[in-house]
Amino acid sequence: MALRFYNTLSGQKEKFEPVEDGVAKIYLCGPTVYDYLHIGNFRGPITFNLLRNWLEFSGYKVDFIYNYTDVDDKIIKRAQEENVEAVKISEKYIEEFEKDFNRLGLKKHEHNPKVTEYMPQIIQFVADLVEKKKAYVVDGEVFYSIDSFPGYGKLSKKNLDELEAGNRVEVDERKKNPFDFVLWKPSKENEPSWISPWGAGRPGWHIECSAMIQSIFGKKTFDIHGGGIDLIFPHHENEIAQGEGRIGQTYCKYWIHNNFINLSNQKMSKSLGNVVKARDFMNEYHPEVLKYLFLSAHYRSMLSVDKEKINQVIVALQRIYSALELAHDVVEKVAEKNEPEAGFKKVLDGLSNKIKKALDDDLNSAEFISLVFEAVRAYNALGFKNKKWNAVHAGNSQAFLNWMKVYGQMSALFQEKPKEMLNQLQEILIRERKIDVLEVEKLLKLRNQARDEKNWKEADKFRDELLDMGVEVHDGSERGWTVKV
Ligand SMILES: [Zn+2]
Repeated sequence: MALRFYNTLSGQKEKFEPVEDGVAKIYLCGPTVYDYLHIGNFRGPITFNLLRNWLEFSGYKVDFIYNYTDVDDKIIKRAQEENVEAVKISEKYIEEFEKDFNRLGLKKHEHNPKVTEYMPQIIQFVADLVEKKKAYVVDGEVFYSIDSFPGYGKLSKKNLDELEAGNRVEVDERKKNPFDFVLWKPSKENEPSWISPWGAGRPGWHIECSAMIQSIFGKKTFDIHGGGIDLIFPHHENEIAQGEGRIGQTYCKYWIHNNFINLSNQKMSKSLGNVVKARDFMNEYHPEVLKYLFLSAHYRSMLSVDKEKINQVIVALQRIYSALELAHDVVEKVAEKNEPEAGFKKVLDGLSNKIKKALDDDLNSAEFISLVFEAVRAYNALGFKNKKWNAVHAGNSQAFLNWMKVYGQMSALFQEKPKEMLNQLQEILIRERKIDVLEVEKLLKLRNQARDEKNWKEADKFRDELLDMGVEVHDGSERGWTVKV
C-alpha cells in the first residue's frame, strides 16, 4: 500500500504524491514566542517529527520549515509589561523553546525562520497582492479582498454567508467584506515597525507563513502544510487565499492537522488555569513519557491526558525498557552469537511489514506502538528465565536490539540507556504512589533475616506486607524489588 494522508482540503485520505519526485517539502506553523510552551504545543512537533522520519525511512528527502513568530500582539504586550524591547522577549522564549525541543530529542528542522528576518519578503508579498488587485490599501492599512478569491472557504468548508449570519462580525467601514483580513497595519507608538510602501507598520499574522514558505520553497506549490486544527480557520484559509492569490496555482497539496489534547477531560487553557508547561511535565516525568503519550494516540484524535494515562505510559515504558535491558545483558554476557532463529526473525520481519502498513495509513502511530509491544512480547517469550544464556539467546537478543534501534530512531523513542531509564521510571512510580523507601528497605532486611533463619512463614508475612505497600520482591535479581504494576 502506498503512503496516504488524511488531507483536510479534500476531507479524505489521499495517496502522497509530492510535487517533485522523491522530495517532501513540509511547513509546520511554529510557536509565538512570548512564553514557555505547554505540552499541547508539542503535539505538532512530535507528530511531524514522526512524519518526517517516516518519509525519510520511505526514501524521501525531507525539507522542513518550522518558524518562530517573533512579531505579535502578545509579544508586544509582554514587552510593555516588563518594560523591555519586544526582541528581548522573543529572543528569550526562542532560547527556552529550543531547550525544551532539544530535550525531546526530535530531529532539527532544516529551516527555523523568524518573521523579523523576512520583512522585505513579506512587504514584497503584500505589494504583489496589491498589484494583482487581490488586496487594497486604506489609510496605511492593507486588506486582503476575499471576494477576489473564489476559492475562499475551501479548506475550512465554511460558507461565508452562514458565517456572517451566525457570528457578529466586527464592523469595519473600511473593509469591502467583513471577512477581509489584514496583511499590513500601521504600528502604534512604542511598537516595532518597519518601513513599507504604505507607511511604517508591521505585518498581520497570516502573511508571515505564506511569505516564509514562498521565500524558502519558491513561488510554487509545495507538499505538506501542518498545524493544529485550531489553525484551519482563519489562519490556513487565509494562507491559501494569499498564496494562491499571488502565484495563481495550488498553494499546498496536503493539509495535515493534529487534534488538541485535554487535561482530565478539560480543554487546557490559560483562562481555566490548567496549563501544563512542557518543561514542568518533562521534569516531573520524562521527555520520553510525553513522546510516548502523544504517539500512543492517533494524531487526529483528541487525546485526554490524566494521571491514569500517564501511569499506563510509565508501565508500558518499563516493560519495553526491561526487555531492552535484558537484551543488552544477554549480548554483553555471551561472547558468541548465532544468527537469530528463523522463527523469531520471521516475527520481526512480519511486524516491520505491519508497521509500514500502519504508518503508511495516515501515520497510525497508535498501531505502531502496539506493534512494538508485540515485538517485546515475542522477545520475552523466547525464554531467558534461568539465565543459562547461550549463542542462540545472544543472536536473538542482538536481532531484537537491532530491530528496536531502527524503530526507536524513527519514532525518537526507546533510545535511552535501559538501566538509567528503568531507575528513573521506578523513581517516578515511587513518588507517584508515595512509597516509603526506608520502610521498604526495613521490611526487606527483616524478610532476609527470616529467610536466613529458614523461618519461611515469617518471611512470607514480610513479603505480603511489602506487596500491600505496592512493592514486589525479586529474589536473585539485581533489582531487589520493583513497584508493583
Ligand atoms: Zn502559520
